[in-house]
Amino acid sequence: MAAVGCTTAMPVALFDTTTALEPLRAQIDAAIADVVAARRFILGPEVAAFEQEFAAYCGTRHAVGVANGTDALTIALRALGVGPGDEVIVPSFSFYATAEAVPATGARPVFCDVERDTLCISRATVAAALTPATKAVVAVHLFGNLAPVAEIEALGVPVLEDAAQAAGTRGDAARPGALGSAATWSFFPSKNLACFGDGGAITTDDDAIAQAARMLRFHGSHDKVTYEQIGYNSRLDELQAAILRVQLPHLDAWADGRRAAARHYEQAGLGELVTLPVASPGSEPAWHLYVVRSERADELAAGLPGHGVGCKAYYRTPIHRQPAMAQFAASAELPVTDEVARTHLALPISPVLSAEQAREVVAAVRALLG
Ligand SMILES: *Cc1c(COP(=O)(O)O)cnc(C)c1O
Repeated sequence: MAAVGCTTAMPVALFDTTTALEPLRAQIDAAIADVVAARRFILGPEVAAFEQEFAAYCGTRHAVGVANGTDALTIALRALGVGPGDEVIVPSFSFYATAEAVPATGARPVFCDVERDTLCISRATVAAALTPATKAVVAVHLFGNLAPVAEIEALGVPVLEDAAQAAGTRGDAARPGALGSAATWSFFPSKNLACFGDGGAITTDDDAIAQAARMLRFHGSHDKVTYEQIGYNSRLDELQAAILRVQLPHLDAWADGRRAAARHYEQAGLGELVTLPVASPGSEPAWHLYVVRSERADELAAGLPGHGVGCKAYYRTPIHRQPAMAQFAASAELPVTDEVARTHLALPISPVLSAEQAREVVAAVRALLG
């Protein structure tokens, strides 16, 4: 997909999920063949090894593999003690699953606003949504940017990080995954660390949360004999764990490639045309999506494909305006969310987006807006 050695403009896809993986193909194929030969498919040695390696990467005591990032949120919330009668504060400017996981625990999602520059929630936006019933906050590290977890925790409420978009991001204090009471991950094929299907994980330093998550992912049972709670059948499987183990050692280099791509855009002058993403203080985001803002975002979205440039408005209708959430959103007034929902647009990014590709994208943006 990369335009290697080509002098004419080539299409720049929104995602390039193949080029960076190409050198690992033989290793991944061998890892898959090993699992098939061993005929151990559920909760075996690959998942156990990946859990150890991913916990070490995040700097946490525990990682618990689950079936996907949505289940990870529901299971982690329940492991934190969230249930009927509780409120959980969530951003509305995020992927729908961030809020969908809350009613699945019996609790109510309460929507909070985001900051216009970082597009993440903050102490101030959470404080405005806090009530005596607030049991937890889900802090989404949106697009790979870091939400200020410690500042939010200082309000006296536990924070669950939704780190689905933040694999490879670095923070001053620690990596995402190790900042809150627990964190959830998705290894959906488009994420920064991705498997060949669905997969997810929960990371935490807390022994009790990890133990509860392990029980909940296996039908609410520690020993497959006694079923203590109504749980889930939600496991990361051996094939996906084996695939993730091959990739994990490369995650930091890929994240560096994403940061380099962002610099290519800056150097190509994109900031003269649209508002560029802003890294949170003390963070080095591994941009999962490169999301710019413009009052003319819809014009760009309509015109860029004609210039061979992929783009997407991910959250034009924020979660609190989705039909399924009407029952929870009656009183939500989120002016910044409504604004950024209208003005955001994701431009192509990947670990291998070149300076030349960035210049092509900027030229197309300039042609449409100039
Ligand atoms: C992808 C994503 C999820 C859900 O992950 P799945 O593995 O698709 O269930 C949750 N939250 C955010 C912010 C995501 O980007």
